[in-house]
Amino acid sequence: MTGPKELEKEVLIKGLCTGCGACIEFCPYIDIVNDHAVIIEYCGLSEGKCYDLCPMTYDIPYERISALRPDIALGPKISIFAARARNLEIRSTAQYGGVVSTLVAYAIDSGKIDKAVLTKYSYNLVPTPIIAKDKEEVFMCAGSKYTPCPVLSGVNRLLTERGGEICIVGTPCQVIAARKMQRYTERIKLIIGLFCTWILSYDGFYEYLNERMDVESIIKFEIPPPPENVFIIHTKKGEIHFPLDDIRRFIPPACNICTDMTSEFSDISVGMVEGMKDWNTVITRTHLGDELVQNAEDDGMIEIRSLEEERIEGLREASMKKKRGAHVKRGDGFW
Ligand SMILES: Cc1cc2nc3c(=O)[nH]c(=O)nc-3n(C[C@H](O)[C@H](O)[C@H](O)COP(=O)(O)OP(=O)(O)OC[C@H]3O[C@@H](n4cnc5c(N)ncnc54)[C@H](O)[C@@H]3O)c2cc1C
Ligand code: SF4
Ligand code: SF4
Repeated sequence: MTGPKELEKEVLIKGLCTGCGACIEFCPYIDIVNDHAVIIEYCGLSEGKCYDLCPMTYDIPYERISALRPDIALGPKISIFAARARNLEIRSTAQYGGVVSTLVAYAIDSGKIDKAVLTKYSYNLVPTPIIAKDKEEVFMCAGSKYTPCPVLSGVNRLLTERGGEICIVGTPCQVIAARKMQRYTERIKLIIGLFCTWILSYDGFYEYLNERMDVESIIKFEIPPPPENVFIIHTKKGEIHFPLDDIRRFIPPACNICTDMTSEFSDISVGMVEGMKDWNTVITRTHLGDELVQNAEDDGMIEIRSLEEERIEGLREASMKKKRGAHVKRGDGFW
C-alpha cells in the first residue's frame, strides 16, 4: 500500500518532507503550509501519485540515467569542468558564474524548451515557483534562496495547461522528484540540478533574520566553503556576517539523511568552485545535458575551462562526507 496514509507515516510525521511540491496541485487533499506538505483530509485511496512522486519514499528512478557508468561519489557523469556566463550583467546578479540562468535562457531562446520552472522571492523572502517564458524572466530568478521552494507544484500547474516542453531547476531532492514525474509525462525535458548540502526551514530562519536586521535590504546570501563557518548576507549597505553554527539549527531533518550533494539524477549539475566566486563547477550527466552545454559554449554563451584534479577530489570528498553522515544518521550502517 503506497498512498497518502503511508506518505503521512513515512515522510510527514517524521518531519522528512523537503517541501519540493511534487505532491501539490494535482490533488485537492494535500497542500503546502510553511514549506511542508500537509494532508488536509484523507482521499480514501490506498495508492496515490503523492507517495509515488515523493523524493523521500526512496523509489529512486535509476532507469532514467543508469546507462552511464556512475562515479560512486559524484554519480553518473559525462564530463566535469568549470564554466561561467560570458555576459557580465548575468554574472553580477547570479549566485556564482551564472551558468544556470544562462543555460536556461539559452535553452528557451534556441527552442529546446518552451518554459522553465524557477524560483523567485515573493513577499517576506518566501521562495515561490515562477514559470519563465523568456530570458528576462529567467534572469529575474537568478541567485540562491536558502529556504525551500515548492518548485514542482509549479510544474504540476504547468502540466494542466496545453503543450510545451519544460525545464526544471532544483535541489537534488527536487531533481529526484522531477525524474519520478517523468514516468507520468513526456513534457519534462531538461532537469538542471543544483549542488546542495542543506537548506534552512523558512519560519525559524526568517524570524532569526527579522529580529536582527532589515530583511528588506537583503540583496544576496552567500555561504563560503569551510573553514570559514560564516553565513554572509549582502545588503544595500554592505555585508552582514552571522555565525554558521547559529544558522545550522534551522536545517530540517530531511537534509541530515539526504545522500545526494551534487544532484546525481539531473541532466546537468551546477555548483560553486571553491575560491573562484564567479565560476561554477558543472557536471554533465546525460547526452541531452552535455549537448546543451557544448552548444551554449559554441554559441558564445558560456566559457569553459578544465577543473584541477585537486578540486574534483575535494568535491568527491565533500560528497562522500554527506553520504556517510546521512547513512550514519539513518542508522543503516551502509558505509
Ligand atoms: C538550498 C541551496 C543549497 C546549495 N548548496 C550548495 C552547496 O553546498 N555547494 C555548492 O557548490 N552549491 C550549492 N548550491 C548551489 C549554488 O548556490 C548555485 O545555485 C549554483 O552554483 C548555480 O550558480 P549560478 O550562478 O549558475 O546560479 P544562477 O544563475 O544565479 O541561478 C540560480 C538558480 O537557482 C534556482 N534556485 C534558487 N534558489 C532555489 C531553491 N531554494 N530551490 C530551487 N531552485 C532554486 C533559481 O531558480 C535559479 O534559476 C546551493 C543552492 C541552493 C538553492
Ligand atoms: S512530495 Fe515533496 S512536498 Fe510532498 S511530501 Fe514528499 S517531499 Fe514533501
Ligand atoms: S540537503 Fe537534500 S533534502 Fe535537503 S534540500 Fe538539499 S537535496 Fe533536499
